[in-house]
Amino acid sequence: MLPLPSPASLQPDATREIRDKVEVIDICNVCRSKNVSILDASSNICRCSRCGFVFDNPRPSAEDLVAFYSKPSKYDSWLAEAEARDQLWKGRVRRLLGTRKAGSLLDVGTGIGQFLAHARPYYKEVFGTEISNSAIELAAEKYGLSLYRGSLESIDFEGRSFDNLTLFHVLEHVSDPAALIRKCYSLLSNRGVLVVAVPNDLNSLRARVKRVLCRLGWKHVHQVGTFGLPRLTLDGSLDEIHLSHFTPAVLKRLLQECGFEIIETGLDRYYVATGYARAKQSLWYAGCSIAHSLFRVNLYDTTLVIARKRSETPG
Ligand SMILES: [Zn+2]
Repeated sequence: MLPLPSPASLQPDATREIRDKVEVIDICNVCRSKNVSILDASSNICRCSRCGFVFDNPRPSAEDLVAFYSKPSKYDSWLAEAEARDQLWKGRVRRLLGTRKAGSLLDVGTGIGQFLAHARPYYKEVFGTEISNSAIELAAEKYGLSLYRGSLESIDFEGRSFDNLTLFHVLEHVSDPAALIRKCYSLLSNRGVLVVAVPNDLNSLRARVKRVLCRLGWKHVHQVGTFGLPRLTLDGSLDEIHLSHFTPAVLKRLLQECGFEIIETGLDRYYVATGYARAKQSLWYAGCSIAHSLFRVNLYDTTLVIARKRSETPG
């Protein structure tokens, strides 16, 4: 087994923030195994040999990530694409109607609040959390929402519980996914429903093709490592900072180990596009949905898991 990378192993062209303040992980966040090895040294990607969880290590500190997501310009594109994003969120609301528990909804990392605005008619009450100050202001201004400020673990909910909890493309951004899922468990009411959507950036057809191309030299053009994943930087060249890379199986295992039973697994229709680009995306989504229904294989770019809180206390 290769030794774990250390901050000193970061390459000289890393930004100052990353060189000065990094977090090094020596234990698998999903199964707690210490059997962690380097998968791709060029982009600081590690994998747990026991459960297959793939993650960035070392990676930026939580403090630097909050600053990164709080840049006022971060949500400009969301506003510019408001109409197309409305379609996206309406679709997600419809997708959840069949499995939701009657009552309240808490959306974690809700951004500017579009999802909550569309979900409001279907739930008794809606709530959201957000770490970005600029997003919190926009949510109040555009949708009249008063969001909880901060990470889920840091917020004082004053004993309140929720009947439904949603994590749309949040889990891959946080430094401790297991702690976040356990917090979701503690905040949900009895038999409450948890919805998690993440990128399928290891098992999707695109990811598989990318890995083959990277082995053939494509990585030199697109600044990704030999495994097809980018090396993290906060210099603005990456729009998103993904700290974890889940397969559908690893995500299900994480939820089960944190006290949930799986109700449904599928694809999360995530794209924001119009015209011809939308038609192309819809066709790809439809093809992957059919493959998933027939063969239970997820070739799409995202994974959606809907789970219910088990009654007993998680181990
Ligand atoms: Zn593991």
